[in-house]
Amino acid sequence: MKIPLADPACQYRELKGAVDAAVQQCLESGAYILGQETEAFEAEFAAFLGAGQTVGVASGTDALTLSLKALGIGPGDEVITTPFTYFATAQSILAAGARPVFCDIEEETMGLDPSQIESRVTSRTRAILPVHLYGRLCRIGEIGKIARRQGLALVEDACQAAGAGRGGKRAGTFGDCGCFSFFPTKNLSCAGDGGAVCTDDPETALRLKALRAQGSGAAGRTVWERDGKSFSPPKDAAEKYIHYLLGTNSRLDALQAAILRQKLPCLPRWNRERRSMAGRYAAGLAGTGLELPPMPEGEEAVFHLYTVRCRDRGQITAQLRKREIGYGIYYPLPLHLQPALAFLGYREGDFPKAERASRQVLSLPLYPGLGPEAQNTVIEAVKAAVR
Ligand SMILES: *Cc1c(COP(=O)(O)O)cnc(C)c1O
Repeated sequence: MKIPLADPACQYRELKGAVDAAVQQCLESGAYILGQETEAFEAEFAAFLGAGQTVGVASGTDALTLSLKALGIGPGDEVITTPFTYFATAQSILAAGARPVFCDIEEETMGLDPSQIESRVTSRTRAILPVHLYGRLCRIGEIGKIARRQGLALVEDACQAAGAGRGGKRAGTFGDCGCFSFFPTKNLSCAGDGGAVCTDDPETALRLKALRAQGSGAAGRTVWERDGKSFSPPKDAAEKYIHYLLGTNSRLDALQAAILRQKLPCLPRWNRERRSMAGRYAAGLAGTGLELPPMPEGEEAVFHLYTVRCRDRGQITAQLRKREIGYGIYYPLPLHLQPALAFLGYREGDFPKAERASRQVLSLPLYPGLGPEAQNTVIEAVKAAVR
């Protein structure tokens, strides 16, 4: 029995009737870009998160880039982030025109180490961009305090953490902007690329809506910077084809929104299922010598990935390959050592915890619908490898 690492069609199979009907209705409506479906999803997703508003965009990467731009961050600015994340986190900072400044992780949450952040702050620092990796909250409370103390913006990369939370507060709602991806393997996924930003600030939401639509519709009180001067676009900026700003084309399609609206009500149950599967792995893999992800008390982790740490990863991956069990390594090379980012000037040894994590992490299959039998097969394979 082949066991994949993830099963993107699984959510669709469960909701096939409802999703098919919603897609067909959308196709027949002729409204394919933004419109009612997208607005309805934006409102429902905001209610789910407990956020003021959400703005649908074309991907998680764009959610990050446009958040930074909407907060006025660009050329000459620095953004502190983690080197142990998906490439998009740092690339989005560069796409906004700013410079990523890395800071090492702490091992419990695999996220930014709050005790190291302030030593990276310079006169150019404008924001902190932490990541909730694998569906676990990073130390967002402490990081938020540092951001406030230093007068920095806080943009959360919650692409792997839709629905995660602590004390009734959800990932993405701790900072100025929370960024989500609906890539097909994410906990809440569409049938292609999609993303969203949540924010409590109506001004930021207005700027995001202008940025995703070629800078149009930007009229109102919203203050922008251009050539070092502040200005508010005049009334005629609300008219079509009058552009006072440079934005981009990054909208959440109505079809994707229609699919997401069907799936969103199931997300809490899917996340609970992920947590219970994580518990099953924790029990089954106890005593193997692997370092298992913590099951934090009082926190709703959503286990986007179930990631263990092992000394001899090759031994386990060879066994998994032999038995046709999928696995993943997120991520094999920390961002400060990525060839495309060599110009930033970092070296091996700069972030020892991130470097060690990238040598040790191994993600095992986990998705709603995986089933206990398949989980047992995975557990057996790992046990056979470490014996
Ligand atoms: C998936 C992901 C992104 C990017 O999302 P896309 O929708 O693929 O652009 C960014 N950051 C993290 C941590 C992710 O997992």
